Amino acid sequence: MFITQPQKQIPVRQKTQVLVVGGGPAGVGAALAASRMGAQTVLLEKRGFLGGNVTACYVETCNYFMRGTPFSPQGIAREIEDGYDREYPSDDLRPGAPHRFHSEYLKVYLDDLLAREGVDVKLHAFVNDVILRDNRIDAVIIQTKQGAQAIQADLVIDCTGDGDVAFAAGIPFEQGRDTDHACQPGTVSLRLAGADAGLLLSGGDGLRECSQRFHEEYRSGQTGLPCYRQDLPYGRLTRAGIISYVNYSCAYGIDPTDIDDLSRGERECRHYNLDIYRYMKANYPGFSRTEIASMSPEIGFRDSRRIQGLYRLTIEDMEAQKHFEDCIAVYPRFYDMLTPDPGMLQAGDGNVAGRGYQGHIYEPVQGNRYFEVPYRSLIPVNLDNLLVAGRCISAGHVAESGVRAISLCVMTGQAAGTAASLCLRDSVPPVCVPVSELQALLMASGFLSLTKGGSDR
Ligand SMILES: Cc1cc2nc3c(=O)[nH]c(=O)nc-3n(C[C@H](O)[C@H](O)[C@H](O)COP(=O)(O)OP(=O)(O)OC[C@H]3O[C@@H](n4cnc5c(N)ncnc54)[C@H](O)[C@@H]3O)c2cc1C
Repeated sequence: MFITQPQKQIPVRQKTQVLVVGGGPAGVGAALAASRMGAQTVLLEKRGFLGGNVTACYVETCNYFMRGTPFSPQGIAREIEDGYDREYPSDDLRPGAPHRFHSEYLKVYLDDLLAREGVDVKLHAFVNDVILRDNRIDAVIIQTKQGAQAIQADLVIDCTGDGDVAFAAGIPFEQGRDTDHACQPGTVSLRLAGADAGLLLSGGDGLRECSQRFHEEYRSGQTGLPCYRQDLPYGRLTRAGIISYVNYSCAYGIDPTDIDDLSRGERECRHYNLDIYRYMKANYPGFSRTEIASMSPEIGFRDSRRIQGLYRLTIEDMEAQKHFEDCIAVYPRFYDMLTPDPGMLQAGDGNVAGRGYQGHIYEPVQGNRYFEVPYRSLIPVNLDNLLVAGRCISAGHVAESGVRAISLCVMTGQAAGTAASLCLRDSVPPVCVPVSELQALLMASGFLSLTKGGSDR
């Protein structure tokens, strides 16, 4: 059933050169890069804070998989980590911890950083429509408390994670795996207070031991918990007894763009969180005095729409370490794909050959194996002033389980923001950007050599 909306006039709130939609890792990277290149830049974010999944789902331990590898985040991603650490030294007591954010401090850090760098940030600005003219997005429509408003821009960068702008513009997309479009499960993360840090750290990393123990208990069928999740990753443990991030609850069969599914996912995950909280409190040393400090404000997703671009990055490309002449990011080969199938967790072979359909794919970084991301995967088909960055770029389902890494999302964002400013300078669409100049700019900002190819990188 459809209803026809009468034509109505929408006030134009603002015009800008570059409009970034979504203030997660990709959006922050894109907005900073565009602004630094001199473009007037507006960033729209539907929530009341920046940071995307890092702040909204407590994913604070982003780069744990790089520990002990030759890799580190590059460019703006690196700058943010270093700058954040200077202002907010880590309060994490866990031994050998890789870099960790405190998501509440990160919100403030990002507010200040983007303001300092001249990005005009508008929070509570939900984008759900565009107006198209001559193969271009003429205006992006935001929903606000004051009604719909339009923002016009020369260049738009979709960093919504769900590809909402591209979707509104009618760009074809894929979602989930090919066979049934099922996505990875959604998660509401948990934060605990009152943990006994002394006890938990008395013989090493007690939280790590709890994770291992839980894995075994789950596999032997001892837990009796209804959530199909066998892993129990933790974030920071602080002197104040805070465990900043318990990544446990998983709701399966959720379409991240459907409000009925989202409502079910939020409700299910909240219950799973209560279950695991009670389980830990009853069974694990150091948890007996804990209470739930908070649950993350919104269910978080690891994958959603993936926009059809000029090049679709595949897992075969990544595994073959394929070199692209238009490479804009080099990243360690690390895949983490929670199976979309509930109850299949024990059946997987745990590596990429399983394609994620038989179980959890989890491949740690090995040696200096890497993959490249081509610029064309950031350029959606059929439009002349849109770029995408972050987890919704053009990639296959399993490929996305590597593409979604937070620091890589900042990097693809930085590449898109830099490309957008070159489009403005030369008055050309994204497809005509001088790629060697784009690469040179990215390399100057700290990206690894992007142009060499080969396995000696
Ligand atoms: C539980 C969980 C654990 C994870 N663990 C890790 C990990 O350990 N390491 C790692 O590297 N990655 C991890 N990930 C993946 C990672 O968080 C994401 O892939 C990454 O955050 C994607 O960045 P992004 O900027 O593309 O999208 P997001 O982080 O999703 O940010 C998108 C932003 O756009 C905003 N937005 C969305 N739609 C609109 C709209 N229509 N209008 C305006 N604004 C909009 C959102 O509010 C959000 O701020 C995890 C994800 C989850 C859910």
